[in-house]
Amino acid sequence: MADKPRLDVDRITCRFDGRDVVRDVSFTVRAGEVMCLLGPSGCGKSTTLRVIAGIERQVSGAVRADGITLSDEQVHLPPEARGVGLIFQDFALFPHLSVAQNVGFGLKGNKAEIARRVHELLERVDLAGYGDKAPHMLSGGEQQRVALARALAPRPRIMLMDEPFSGLDNRLRDGIRDETLQLLKEEGTAVVLVTHEPEEAMRMADQIALMRDGVIVQKGAPYNIYNAPADKAAAAFFSDINVIRGAVQGALVDTAFGQFLAPGHPDGTEVEIVFRPQHVKIDFDRGGRGPNPTPQDGTPARGIVARARFMGHESLVEFRMDFDGGIVKATVPAVFLPKPGTPLWLTVRRDRCFVFAKKR
Ligand code: ADP
Ligand code: MG
Repeated sequence: MADKPRLDVDRITCRFDGRDVVRDVSFTVRAGEVMCLLGPSGCGKSTTLRVIAGIERQVSGAVRADGITLSDEQVHLPPEARGVGLIFQDFALFPHLSVAQNVGFGLKGNKAEIARRVHELLERVDLAGYGDKAPHMLSGGEQQRVALARALAPRPRIMLMDEPFSGLDNRLRDGIRDETLQLLKEEGTAVVLVTHEPEEAMRMADQIALMRDGVIVQKGAPYNIYNAPADKAAAAFFSDINVIRGAVQGALVDTAFGQFLAPGHPDGTEVEIVFRPQHVKIDFDRGGRGPNPTPQDGTPARGIVARARFMGHESLVEFRMDFDGGIVKATVPAVFLPKPGTPLWLTVRRDRCFVFAKKR
């Protein structure tokens, strides 16, 4: 069994009112691995999770755990028979049970064993000493951590989490996220985490499946998705982007920022060159004169500062470009707030640009 993924989601399609809200979705998750389903609201993330949990039924495709079928067109194991832990957005604690009773609810074993496990988990979620309290005496964030402890208590093989951290305030969130992750890794749980926040996915995931309109548009390690997005929208999901346009001639595109490689695009193809603000450099020294600093940097182009804002760990400067009157955004990792109207020269890291055929 060791070679089988812990969770295998195999081409599932889920239909509501004649509409495919999840179509042909496939991914695998190994023990101790975190898969993030990432995408905008309504793209089918929660539905996918509910199919894995057995709360929703797919019209086609299969869900397997360690090679055993949990559901397909014929089989449909009920949620409680799947060995799957769930933490959903609208978690519900049993209001008439204490915190400790909530956490121990699904546990088997003798009283001392259960008490030990409950104590261990409450410590892990930073709620030691809260065991005897009633849920309503806790804040929303504390209740969320109890729900987390309860889901972890039976040591599920697979943990499904639907935006479980969105109710926590910022101060707590990072700590709880990292703690949760560590706990799940230690226990060798395969995790599917749903989120619409790219930062959360980058922080938590071993693999990201980027979803849009019910399908997975790209799957891979965070680094790969960020640095080799499948299309313009995939690039834009993770940060602000800049877009300039051009036409391909001999696998090259000529622009005011120099030539870009466009391998595989036939002559005459209209393309969009996409790059992130962090890969725009302000060329303080040259002002368009003299040799280029490095071959990656291409040709400096002049823009006029339209707006500059300090963002905390960087400054974001927007330029109106001479060559087409469009806006290019640059981030500078320092306090840099030039006055609007200031002319400056920009270069872009050509090795960090993405060239996509323009969609019609
Ligand atoms: P996400 O979690 O990515 O925000 P969902 O999976 O909740 O998206 O929803 C995907 C689409 O399916 C949405 O358009 C939503 O309105 C629709 N949908 C979800 N559940 C149902 C249902 N039980 N009946 C009909 N439509 C549904
Ligand atoms: Mg959802």
